[in-house]
Amino acid sequence: MDEKKRAEIKTALAKHVVTMPDGTSLPRLGQGTWYMGENPQMKDKEIKALQLGIELGMTLIDTAEMYGNGDSERLVGEAIKGRRNQVFLVSKVYPQHAGLDMISKACENSLKRLETDHLDLYLLHWRGRVPLAETIEGMEKLRKEGKILRWGVSNFDTADMEELWNTKNGKNSVANQVLYHLGSRGIDFDLLPWQSKHNMPIMAYSPLAQGGTLRKQLLNDPTIHDIADKYNVQPLQIALAWTIRSNNVIAIPKAVQEEHVLANAEAATIEFTEEDLNRLDQVFPKPNRKMPLDII
Ligand code: NAP
Repeated sequence: MDEKKRAEIKTALAKHVVTMPDGTSLPRLGQGTWYMGENPQMKDKEIKALQLGIELGMTLIDTAEMYGNGDSERLVGEAIKGRRNQVFLVSKVYPQHAGLDMISKACENSLKRLETDHLDLYLLHWRGRVPLAETIEGMEKLRKEGKILRWGVSNFDTADMEELWNTKNGKNSVANQVLYHLGSRGIDFDLLPWQSKHNMPIMAYSPLAQGGTLRKQLLNDPTIHDIADKYNVQPLQIALAWTIRSNNVIAIPKAVQEEHVLANAEAATIEFTEEDLNRLDQVFPKPNRKMPLDII
């Protein structure tokens, strides 16, 4: 990829932002890290991939204590060494660690593995048995201590968000990370509008349907191919660009192959026409009734 293209990507990522409730602007594309750090032979390549992504402007990095039992956080820690201030760092706490007795220790362990003194965002990975009020209290305590700057949730459906909103300090949540891609549009019916109404971004995980494996149709559909040809890109770049078409969604594709990192960043430069979006809607329609939240 030549310098001109890289400059175009950086400009697009700087222009296409999501504004967090506290006014912080984030590029609509970040980077996922599930399965990274687990194979020592892949380590250098994974670190280079994340660093290339940061250089291109995909500065939000998403990890979790769950991923590789902390190996993903360790790898991210290495990748962002000397670059911490360029990165918006997100990690997640296991639901079973999200009570007042364990959340501080879980966060401390994540910080150690990431070799940093704070997280930009700490998410409850999914809902477990700990009452929401207790998790919120733990998150607020960490925030007051400066160990996390913000907190949010993941895999919360609309009813969970309502409950969160009606729990003391629940309105301090700044994001909900859920599965969202062109082949899984359930949240378009109710959750995405709920989030927009409450000015809280969605972080879209598996935005490439795991390289198309969750929905083969994303790779094979003739309409996607046709639109991809029009922009001289790959079908999955169309799927990724579609995910970040609104200003309330940040997508976090995971990529280790250099060409995948470049392709994902390039997706930010695709500007759809109304006609493109209508054509995609016809093949991958928005649901007209409530669908249960897709989870992996
Ligand atoms: P994904 O990002 O949809 O897909 C990743 C797969 O797609 C990898 O196999 C990757 O290959 C491949 N890929 C990446 N870019 C590509 C491209 N341009 N063309 C073709 N293939 C491409 O799936 P994901 O990892 O499940 O989701 C992304 C991130 O979301 C995770 O890494 C994690 O951080 C987060 N997540 C959160 C939850 C949650 O419960 N909160 C659940 C799942 C995921 P290479 O790696 O070989 O390049």
